[in-house]
Amino acid sequence: MVAENYKKVLENVKRCAKKAGRSENDVTLIAVSKTKPLEMLKEAYEAGARDFGENHVQELVEKIPAMPSDIRWHMIGHLQRNKVKYIVGKVYLIHSVDSLRLAQEISKESVKAGVTSNILIEVNASGEESKWGGNLKESAELVKEAMSLPGICVKGLMTVAPYTENPEENRTYFSTLKQLLVDIEAENKDNNSMGELSMGMTGDYEVAIEEGATYVRVGTGIFGERNYTI
Ligand SMILES: *Cc1c(COP(=O)(O)O)cnc(C)c1O
Repeated sequence: MVAENYKKVLENVKRCAKKAGRSENDVTLIAVSKTKPLEMLKEAYEAGARDFGENHVQELVEKIPAMPSDIRWHMIGHLQRNKVKYIVGKVYLIHSVDSLRLAQEISKESVKAGVTSNILIEVNASGEESKWGGNLKESAELVKEAMSLPGICVKGLMTVAPYTENPEENRTYFSTLKQLLVDIEAENKDNNSMGELSMGMTGDYEVAIEEGATYVRVGTGIFGERNYTI
């Protein structure tokens, strides 16, 4: 089931990219495997998945050594500063950097480990109170501050849009994030490491791709509903 789901979503991602006049390789599908057992991750891997997303440090550090080493692991959940040391050097991209103190901690641990950590700045594009991330202005400021830190490369922006039955309602947040990226790039012409936009989940990734997503994070659509009670 996981394999078929993965292939179906991947096909859909490519079709959407082409329809939006973009290259199908422009958009990377991240299989969000949080709470799911290794057997299901392996099934997705066998079907071709190489980008996996997790949102808890504990789960990441358990799953990474149990899976093939050519996987790119994405930390997409809220990250506490005291847990940074466990994932630096092990993950391909940290999507959820929402404060200068967190960026500083990632910088410190990366320098110590002799690595460069790729990060995205998380933006609360909808202004929903339950969401992590700063507002647009704070996020633009944070990008600039984080860019100057050693051991860190700021690759772009990430947002989690509100849950909705109608993905069209989230289009405005996705286009807002894209515009913010364009504005930041225009202001920082000498630093062109940006360009990545992580936005869109099972319910709204097609709209996100139309608005410029380069990473979509799909969990339920690949692995099925999550059961948080077990
Ligand atoms: C769980 C999660 C996803 C995937 O959500 P689905 O709706 O299951 O596709 C994407 N992004 C983040 C940050 C998540 O925590």
